[in-house]
Amino acid sequence: MGDLTDRLAQGLPAGAVVVDPDVTAAYSRDMAGFCAAGVPAVVVFPETVEQVQHVMRVATELRVPVVPQGARTGLSGAANAVDGCVVLSLVKLNRILEIDPVNRIAVVEPGVVNAELSRTVEQLGLSYPPDPSSWESCTIGGNIGTGAGGLCCVKYGVTSEYVLGLDVVLADGRLLSTGRRTAKGVAGYDLTRLFVGSEGTLGVVVRAVLALRPAPAPQLALAAEFPSADAAGAAVCEVMARGLTPSLMELMDAVSVRAVNELGQMGLPESTQALLLVAFDGPDRVGELARVAELCRAAGATEVVPAEDQAESDLLLAARRLALPALDRLGTTMIDDVAVPRSRLAEMLNGVAAIAERHGLTIGVVSHAGDGNTHPIVIFDAEDEDQAVRAQRSFDDIMALGLELGGTITGEHGVGLLKRDWLARELGPVALELQRQLKGVFDPLGILNPGKMV
Ligand SMILES: Cc1cc2nc3c(=O)[nH]c(=O)nc-3n(C[C@H](O)[C@H](O)[C@H](O)COP(=O)(O)OP(=O)(O)OC[C@H]3O[C@@H](n4cnc5c(N)ncnc54)[C@H](O)[C@@H]3O)c2cc1C
Repeated sequence: MGDLTDRLAQGLPAGAVVVDPDVTAAYSRDMAGFCAAGVPAVVVFPETVEQVQHVMRVATELRVPVVPQGARTGLSGAANAVDGCVVLSLVKLNRILEIDPVNRIAVVEPGVVNAELSRTVEQLGLSYPPDPSSWESCTIGGNIGTGAGGLCCVKYGVTSEYVLGLDVVLADGRLLSTGRRTAKGVAGYDLTRLFVGSEGTLGVVVRAVLALRPAPAPQLALAAEFPSADAAGAAVCEVMARGLTPSLMELMDAVSVRAVNELGQMGLPESTQALLLVAFDGPDRVGELARVAELCRAAGATEVVPAEDQAESDLLLAARRLALPALDRLGTTMIDDVAVPRSRLAEMLNGVAAIAERHGLTIGVVSHAGDGNTHPIVIFDAEDEDQAVRAQRSFDDIMALGLELGGTITGEHGVGLLKRDWLARELGPVALELQRQLKGVFDPLGILNPGKMV
């Protein structure tokens, strides 16, 4: 241990090597409950690429595991420490290095917070679309590590579509540059994309070239109340089948609507079984909302309320962003993240309701409906052993249901520790073996975030 910290300190600034157990404990886990977290030997805060390389060289030489971390807002245990590891926090590599409006790219360090980048490029009439609900705190490095999604993905896609190039420190300290700064480029295997969603198991991202888009107009939203998941699911399918491209299409169930009202006094309609929020940010926002309103009514909406102005629209979107914290107050929560083809969204929602009934628990569901990405949130009393067992079973049943419907066990939160056992079920033996071989190519000693994902 002394040797490890001494060696690390030789290449890092004063104060960048922390062994205080209160601090190391604080950095031992992300925001996923129910995932084991080990005790780190040390937490380090490098400020430059060279310092990250130094950390990895020392770790390789001493065969010590390294867990890269961003803001630890992850929901799969992917950033959790393992016993005796170096926690490698990237939060101090937090500079926006370049914004290039002509080539529509930004070059950033991994510790830049998502919202900070968004606000900075907005001032230049540009946007960085990936917008996880945690955008005020999560980092670009973490977003790349998890392949994060968000509310805007139905129109703009997920993080992987915006990562053009990366600088990555490999397990042995070598610096790899992948990808490009150009609008196009197909030279060689697409290693850049391989790193997106790799959960810190293949290398440490130290710089990213990100694609930007012209800033859209502010979104204008409507809210539609439905008496059933079937009716809401039918409306979602109609909107997409008619070729409309909303910038947001989110669904909240009755449990989440009530929870948001309690937390934020939002005045959302509590009589609803499913509240669909749809927004547009194009030049014909009002016309497109009117078409969606019609489609919603035809699908069985009991009430359709277009926002009258920007402030009302912003309030609806704020209500949606409040859903997770609001459900969190109802008890201990297990947040799932299962995506199905959007045409099967209603089946998924009805299936989750049946699982809740079978296990005698409350499960609130918020969905990125346009992506078929559901977040069923199992609510239970962790002190009650029987409830805890039923919660775990519900969680597993939800993933099994997602796979049965042709979906995936994780749409955006990642595998981490939480879903590691389920990855094999989704991938099958051939894909799993190849994924493990790939891990071995990048990290032959198995020191990078061991025990996560594959
Ligand atoms: C309230 C709330 C709302 C959320 N909403 C969303 C949402 O809408 N969409 C969504 O996708 N997620 C959401 N999340 C989950 C979480 O915010 C994302 O997974 C986010 O991308 C994690 O970023 P982070 O900086 O906190 O990374 P961390 O949690 O610290 O790390 C995540 C993973 O990335 C790896 N990593 C971090 N930095 C690097 C690096 N520089 N190089 C290599 N690997 C690295 C870590 O090892 C780990 O495997 C939400 C979380 C909360 C708490």
